[in-house]
Amino acid sequence: MKKKLSHSVYLVHVQDIIDLSPSLRRLVLHSPALVQYPYQFNGAHIKIFLPKSGQAIPQLPQLSNHGFNWAEPDNKPFVRTYTLRNYDAQACTLTIDFVKHGDNGPASAFAEKAQRGDVLGISSPGGPMPMLKSATRYLFVADITALPATEALLEDIDPLATGDVVLLLPQTEDLPAALNLPVAMHLHSFYGNLSQIKAIVDHIAHFTPLHQENFAWVAGEASLVMPIRKILREHWHLPAQRHYAVPYWRRGENEETYHEARHNFIDK
Ligand SMILES: Cc1cc2nc3c(=O)[nH]c(=O)nc-3n(C[C@H](O)[C@H](O)[C@H](O)COP(=O)(O)OP(=O)(O)OC[C@H]3O[C@@H](n4cnc5c(N)ncnc54)[C@H](O)[C@@H]3O)c2cc1C
Repeated sequence: MKKKLSHSVYLVHVQDIIDLSPSLRRLVLHSPALVQYPYQFNGAHIKIFLPKSGQAIPQLPQLSNHGFNWAEPDNKPFVRTYTLRNYDAQACTLTIDFVKHGDNGPASAFAEKAQRGDVLGISSPGGPMPMLKSATRYLFVADITALPATEALLEDIDPLATGDVVLLLPQTEDLPAALNLPVAMHLHSFYGNLSQIKAIVDHIAHFTPLHQENFAWVAGEASLVMPIRKILREHWHLPAQRHYAVPYWRRGENEETYHEARHNFIDK
């Protein structure tokens, strides 16, 4: 049975570190308090709170209807958005898959240097609920930052679902061996960096247009999401409630500088 959704934050420690592929590292996070985690579904958005340099434990915010309140504003942690990949109430664990893109970002650096016992904060889940709407056909488009959400959503989708899954991954080894694709869904994989985006957009532009009984789920780097949302809305006239199109990051900008632009794009 699903628990009532309430906003809360938790301190958790790294219990296990699993390298899924050259680019993705899974951290299994544990706290006895997670037994009460207000889980809704795997694939939901969550905030993570990372200690600043010299800190062992991050400050956690108080939550209000207007966002986060900080008892010590000068001592705020790094706040990032990730995907709840898996929740296990019995084991009191929650799993997040981090892209290892180098030590130029605090979240990537945290994952790359993680040791068992390291402490971070996490929030209760957010984002649209449910994230997918029931549909006669689906289109998923994701880069590797959105692969964890794509995998989680595909695990829960109707096994008879039809449609297409388009992935942009750094290398062939990043494609999960056990991708849980319904038999009537087709996988289109592209490998490499963002220079592949034009080929992906051209590829999708040739698909049979989606209509209002279909649903599109698109996430990844901003210059991947933007032209695909344009196809969905302006070429295929897909209503806003029949797609999710969220830029998860933008090249050259960190989360602090990109956060507001992302929300402006989503709200548009
Ligand atoms: C709803 C949502 C769910 C998300 N889920 C996940 C998830 O499950 N796993 C995941 O790995 N990411 C996920 N992301 C993306 C993640 O939040 C961003 O990649 C974030 O910027 C990483 O923070 P950072 O501290 O590592 O880098 P930042 O400090 O934000 O950025 C530092 C530099 O690294 C660049 N950068 C950021 N991300 C990448 C990347 N992936 N590849 C190359 N360069 C990058 C930035 O452009 C910047 O130049 C999600 C984002 C959203 C909005």
